[in-house]
Amino acid sequence: MIKAATTTLLGLTLLAFAVQPAGAKDAAVQYVPTALSDTVTMLKGQGGNIAVSSGQDGVFIIDDQYSHLADQLMAAIGKVSDEPIRFVINTHYHHDHVGGNEAVGDAGAVIIAHDNIRERMSTEQFSNFFDAATPPWPSDALPVVTFNDRMTLHYNGEPVTAYHVPHGHTDGDSIIHFPSSNVLHMGDIFFNGLYPYIDLDGGGSIDGMIAGVEKGLSLCDGNTQVIPGHGPLANRAGLAEYRDLLVTIRDRVQTLVNEGKTLQEATEANPTADWDEELGGVFIKPDQLVIFVYNSLTGVERYTPLDRETTE
Ligand SMILES: [Zn+2]
Repeated sequence: MIKAATTTLLGLTLLAFAVQPAGAKDAAVQYVPTALSDTVTMLKGQGGNIAVSSGQDGVFIIDDQYSHLADQLMAAIGKVSDEPIRFVINTHYHHDHVGGNEAVGDAGAVIIAHDNIRERMSTEQFSNFFDAATPPWPSDALPVVTFNDRMTLHYNGEPVTAYHVPHGHTDGDSIIHFPSSNVLHMGDIFFNGLYPYIDLDGGGSIDGMIAGVEKGLSLCDGNTQVIPGHGPLANRAGLAEYRDLLVTIRDRVQTLVNEGKTLQEATEANPTADWDEELGGVFIKPDQLVIFVYNSLTGVERYTPLDRETTE
């Protein structure tokens, strides 16, 4: 069963199952490269932000966006380096980060990811948030090398390390550190400039997301360039500000839980009001963020939409 749900806002199309034929070109999507060091380039297109490492050993990438854009993406990477792509590291299992796996893998790259990414990509997933199922991916799209805690790729002159951060945005997130380039790719642990999506159905939680951000901060100094999963390039100060936002919202919702408020009452208390105008109109709405946090704190491991009929 394929049930499509599409949410398109500022280039974010999450879990929208691709219906475009492979190789179709979407003229509206432009890939914009930003060189961050001698070897690392950030590539923005549609979907999760990509990092490209290119140098003496060849090319590897972090995440590969959507299936239907794979040819366009590979052409954009080809402008950064004409060497073949040797490896892909996936930050998590979402469609806007692993969609190009099949095409990039078929072109010769080895796909590397956390154990839980392969597990979720191998089986049908249902999202209560999107009210949609994602069928299992074809075997060619699955990670070939998986890891549990951390993995290091010694490539292009530096030990690039992927650290698993448990139960954050999903249950399979990694953040990836380029120590010599002083670049950190946070995957969807970090949404910069918009409220984050916490995939409760996929094993995410607010406390895990905060812990993942803390792990990222521990890898940063004042000059680190921080690639978020979505939104513009950031730095340590931007990541710290995001941590403070998550902690404040978590604490406010925890207070409401302690006071015995229901989920409905917690959303009506508007614990995110200070930031709604700036961050709540892009993708995740204020009520949705409160639901992520409230359910995380009360042990409800799935998204539970409010009854829109009674809340108007
Ligand atoms: Zn995601």
